[in-house]
Amino acid sequence: MPSPIERAAELVAEASDIVVLSGAGISTESGIPDFRSPGGIWSKYDPSEFTYQNFVSNPEHRVRYWTMGLEIHAVLAGARPNAAHHAVAELERMGKLRALVTQNIDGLHQRAGSSAQRVIEIHGTALWVSCLSCGDRMPREDVHARLHAGESDPACNHCGGILKPATISFGQAMPERETREAFAHAERSDLFMVIGSSLVVHPAAYLPVRAIESGAKLVIVNLEPTPCDRMATALLRGKAGDAMTAVIEAACGLRS
Ligand code: NAD
Repeated sequence: MPSPIERAAELVAEASDIVVLSGAGISTESGIPDFRSPGGIWSKYDPSEFTYQNFVSNPEHRVRYWTMGLEIHAVLAGARPNAAHHAVAELERMGKLRALVTQNIDGLHQRAGSSAQRVIEIHGTALWVSCLSCGDRMPREDVHARLHAGESDPACNHCGGILKPATISFGQAMPERETREAFAHAERSDLFMVIGSSLVVHPAAYLPVRAIESGAKLVIVNLEPTPCDRMATALLRGKAGDAMTAVIEAACGLRS
C-alpha cells in the first residue's frame, strides 16, 4: 500500500493539467497567521467586523481598518515564500500546472517564482489599493506613506473617492473574471490539489467538488480535516512545506 505522499507523487507524475487551490495554511510557515488558528493578529481584530458595508458606509470604521492594515501589512511585507510556495512553482517548471488559484492576498506565490499569468487571486491582493469610484490603482506603500504622514482615511487623489485595499472583504462581490476562470480551469484539470485551506469559504471551497465532478482526482494537504477529505484520492495531514517538498521530490523520481 503506497503512503499518502507516494500516492500523491504518482498522481502528480501522471497528471498534465494540475490546478492548485491554496489557502491561508500555505503561508503560515512564512509567519502569516491563518484566520482559524489561535493567536496572532486575528485574535486582536475580528475579521468578520471588517465587512465591505462597514468600510463604505462608516468613516470611523475605515480609520480602524487602515490602522489594522498598517499592522497586518508589516507582517505581509516581512514574509518570505516557504518550501510549499516553491514546490508549487516547481509544478509549473515541470510543465504540469494549468492554474494556481489562491485565496491568499499576500503575493507569496509570485515571489516564489509562479508566473503572474498562472496565478488567479480570487480574494484579491493586499499589495495594491484601488479607488472604489474611479478604479485608479496604486501600490499599498503609497497609501501607507500618506497614513504615516498623518492622514487617517486617505481619499483618491484623482476623484476624491474612497480608497480600499484591493482585497475582497466579507460582503463584497467576488471578482467575476477570476471566479469564472477558476471554475473553468477546475473543470479542465486532471488533478486538483488543495494546499492549506479549511475549505469552508465559498465559492472557493466548491472548486474541488466541481473538479471531481468533471473527472479530476483530488489531493488535499492540510493540517486539519476539511469537508472534502472523503473525496480525496490522497490525503496528506501535515505541514504544507514538508509534504509538498516530499511529493515533488518523489514525483521527479518517478519521472526519471
Ligand atoms: P483558513 O484560515 O480557513 O484555513 C487554513 C487551513 O490551513 C486550516 O485548516 C489549517 O489547519 C491549515 N494549515 C495551517 N497551517 C498549515 C500548514 N503549515 N500546513 C498545512 N495546513 C496548514 O484559510 P482559508 O481556507 O484560506 O480561508 C480563509 C480566508 O482568509 C481566505 O479567504 C484568505 O483570503 C484569508 N487569509 C489570507 C491570508 C494570506 O494571504 N496569507 C492569511 C489569513 C487569511
